[in-house]
Amino acid sequence: MKPRHKILLVEDEKNIAKVVLYNLEREGYQVITARDGEEGLAKARKELPDLVILDLMLPKTDGLEVCRQLKSDPKTARIPIIMLTAKTQEADRVVGLEMGADDYVAKPFSVRELAARVKAVLRRGQSSEAPTLWKGWEIEVDWDRRKVKSKKKLVELTPKEFELLKVLVEASGRVLSREMLLEKVWGYDQASEIQSRTVDLHISQLRQKLGTPGKQILTVTGAGYRFRMPDEE
Ligand code: CA
Repeated sequence: MKPRHKILLVEDEKNIAKVVLYNLEREGYQVITARDGEEGLAKARKELPDLVILDLMLPKTDGLEVCRQLKSDPKTARIPIIMLTAKTQEADRVVGLEMGADDYVAKPFSVRELAARVKAVLRRGQSSEAPTLWKGWEIEVDWDRRKVKSKKKLVELTPKEFELLKVLVEASGRVLSREMLLEKVWGYDQASEIQSRTVDLHISQLRQKLGTPGKQILTVTGAGYRFRMPDEE
């Protein structure tokens, strides 16, 4: 039998905590809970969970500060964090990702969506025994340090451009629609005309910053974008 993954849930809203706890336990995870930032930090350090689900708005120490402290402590730095944010907290979400949160789920969320993210982040974590470096088309990415090089030169990407690149690479050549990109990178689940153009704009900036290798981000007419993988025929 596989060892059960241990998840720490830091959430002060009792109803949300209860529903998440119930559903993750049903999925076979071991779940421990904390109701504020301080308790969350203490339990993360003591229990060293495989994953932390961290609410942003917390009493005592808020989620961003908890994230910052966990990511700056070598003992807990490698524990992946999924942030729970409100849709209106776009700025906080960006800061959270910059501080090293691995993913976020916007409230109100469905438990199924959260469970899917948990699974994805844990799966990603398992392969992180391998170096977190990705190379292809003269692009080099260090996902952990959020460093990107193109033709050996450091490329300064905004957090959104970085996430966009990551999502495209992780899709391993599959086509991602603008709606999917909006949801994965921006956290919107209702795409509008204007938002779709935001995707196009970021894609073109990302291509430009990557230079020649950026041409491997392909536009698929009527469908979206895909990143041509180096090992494709
Ligand atoms: Ca809260």
